[in-house]
Amino acid sequence: MVTEVDEYLIHRRLGTDAAESTTQAYAIGLALFLDWCDSIGKAPADSVPYLGRFVYWLQHASPVKSAATTTLVRAERRVNAVLSAVRGYLRHQASIGRLPHAVLAGLYDDFTSPVPGLADFDPGFQHRPRARHRLQEPPSLVDNATDDEVLKLLTAATNPRDRFIIIAMWRMGLRRGEVTGLRREDVHFVARATRLGCGVEGPHLHVRRRENPNRALAKSRRPRVVPADWLVVQAHDQYMSVLADLASDRRSDFVLVNLFREPVGSAMRPDAINALLDRLSQRNGCDRRIRPHMLRHSFATNTLAAGATLDVLKELLGHAWVASTEVYAHPSPERLRAAVEAVATQRAAGGEMVGSAAATGSGSASTLGSA
Ligand SMILES: [Zn+2]
Repeated sequence: MVTEVDEYLIHRRLGTDAAESTTQAYAIGLALFLDWCDSIGKAPADSVPYLGRFVYWLQHASPVKSAATTTLVRAERRVNAVLSAVRGYLRHQASIGRLPHAVLAGLYDDFTSPVPGLADFDPGFQHRPRARHRLQEPPSLVDNATDDEVLKLLTAATNPRDRFIIIAMWRMGLRRGEVTGLRREDVHFVARATRLGCGVEGPHLHVRRRENPNRALAKSRRPRVVPADWLVVQAHDQYMSVLADLASDRRSDFVLVNLFREPVGSAMRPDAINALLDRLSQRNGCDRRIRPHMLRHSFATNTLAAGATLDVLKELLGHAWVASTEVYAHPSPERLRAAVEAVATQRAAGGEMVGSAAATGSGSASTLGSA
């Protein structure tokens, strides 16, 4: 039995050119499946009618001890990945004649393929059967640094350069490669930049894609202008006064330079931003490591919460597609509740009827409407 699984994994790895890591994830998923088949005393080929139980088992059976627990041990996404591996394995067994094709019908709700299993191997085949055993996955939530975490980072930062890095990423949403790729000529923190040959009003900076010696690379090919608020401008001013103390032969065209480690004055590398945030997270008791992108997520989330529309945010973030920006549009449970409660409050303000009618359960639609 194990050799059949091994064969399948080799087929996946070589035959379908799957990545090593994907194959490994499949192997772990299939090992769980075989464990479960053992535990119910069924051969894998006979287990399909019981797969609903397998789903429950995946959610509840602890990987450490075999006893079931009440808390969920595997998230929906993980359970679905295991189920997908199991389907792939069973389909493969059917395709090489080790499993009756009819068994596959138990895996799908609308299994009508004249050649069972074909849909999954032939990309040109139109009909994709819908997997019967599949959990609804929650939308992926954006992992942003909280205001409290940003405050902790800022308090832990010991110099104006580090504070400028944090504030620029948090208030302008700059990517790691963008902030380390900034040249002094890109920063127009003046009321009117016409003297600098730029027609953009108000303090702003330009994000431009260049080949940089420090490997900093702006992700978007299209240059963009990001407005700066007074917090960023102030942090930049303070940092510039530190830079002014650098010996002139140490000065560089880059905004972010090494102040403490050699070569002093040369451009900071993008991975130094991660190292900096790691250090600051640890120093000031953040419960988790803050990564550079979490500050960008905070910017996006805060900007939307403050009323920006998706098209505006798309420009600010330098996204090529609005679909990338839409991940930030998933409102938090708090905002959903606030939206519902805002309506209830307005209704209640119009009269006492709503509350009392709802309490007795006797309110008709017309009473509610006139309340
Ligand atoms: Zn400008």
